[in-house]
Amino acid sequence: MSTPPLTRPTRVEIDLEALRFNLHQVRHRVGPACEILAVVKADAYGHGARGVAPALAAAGADQFGVALVGEGLDLRRYGITRPVVVLGGVFPDEEQAVLAHDLQPALYDLDAARRLDAAARAAGARIACHLKIDTGMGRLGFRPERLGDVLAVLKGLPGLEVRGVISHLAMADEPEQPFTAAQTERFRAVVDRVRAAGFAPRYLHLANSAAVFSRDLAGCNLVRPGISLYGGLTGTPFEEEVPQRPVMRFLSQIAQLKEVPAGEGISYAHRFVTTRPSKLAAVPVGYADGYNRLLTNRGDVLIRGRRAPVAGTVCMDWILVDVTDIPAAAVGDRVTLLGRDGDECITAREWADKIGTITYEVFCNISKRVPRVFVGTER
Ligand SMILES: *Cc1c(COP(=O)(O)O)cnc(C)c1O
Repeated sequence: MSTPPLTRPTRVEIDLEALRFNLHQVRHRVGPACEILAVVKADAYGHGARGVAPALAAAGADQFGVALVGEGLDLRRYGITRPVVVLGGVFPDEEQAVLAHDLQPALYDLDAARRLDAAARAAGARIACHLKIDTGMGRLGFRPERLGDVLAVLKGLPGLEVRGVISHLAMADEPEQPFTAAQTERFRAVVDRVRAAGFAPRYLHLANSAAVFSRDLAGCNLVRPGISLYGGLTGTPFEEEVPQRPVMRFLSQIAQLKEVPAGEGISYAHRFVTTRPSKLAAVPVGYADGYNRLLTNRGDVLIRGRRAPVAGTVCMDWILVDVTDIPAAAVGDRVTLLGRDGDECITAREWADKIGTITYEVFCNISKRVPRVFVGTER
């Protein structure tokens, strides 16, 4: 895969070998009979769907999941021919794109259902949909109490095919939580009623990554992992028990080195003041790249396999790093912001904990300005 010429040294490297490894862990867990819908919304959680989706397809992902119709169109442009489920559903005027590119929307709104049906029939086609049920997430989906009415309406919409029944778990990342079992039970009951009404959904699915690795998925024949494919499934017991490799490395370079005396204020607002004669490295990455400003005086980076702290305020395009304890540091040295360098590793989990968020957001926030370079493509 060709990569655009780099105009600056700050880049994200995506390890497709690690991605394949993570996909294979899901396959190993669910067995050959269950299909895998790889969730690649938000540009593959910031990893770059352009490289990630084709690699997952080649490695055995059966289907793909995106949030938006536009993201589905992107997948088609990247050459993905497998089923694409639009988890976020369809908004007015998106029906033609759904038809033209054979996308499968989640269905949680009867007006949307009617619009899709009309578009399908006008084209002499059918649109495969996934009936979305709110079993307790409280976000998208028909409530089970309304199911009778919903199914009656769908009966009168021959342009639609109910290809799947889908729900989403609210607490799967807390395996001790009994609520997940309650949601699973509600889901089963809904599926029985959908079938009793004469529909024959081919796919039943409710598991995200955490559920894949902690739940008995009896009755489901499709799973929807996202974060575990990227090596970012956190928490107990997943971090100990799920073999996963980080896929993203976020890299930059030392652009300038300088020696300053003790007592020198560094970066905006002088939030860092040297306490000794110091050596500081300027690194061309900032919050505009997704290097979160909350890492001011808190982040660590890796240089020559060793940790070095961010000194002072994270700027839009720059951070300063205290390399006083790495005397060999030189202009042009690789700076690892996220990922491994020798024996040391900065994980997305470490970042997330420092700034009070989750790995998902760390990945998604690496901005468009940072080129994604795909490595490990030789197979
Ligand atoms: C994002 C998403 C997933 C994937 O969740 P992970 O926790 O990343 O595995 C699955 N299903 C739906 C409906 C989603 O929106």
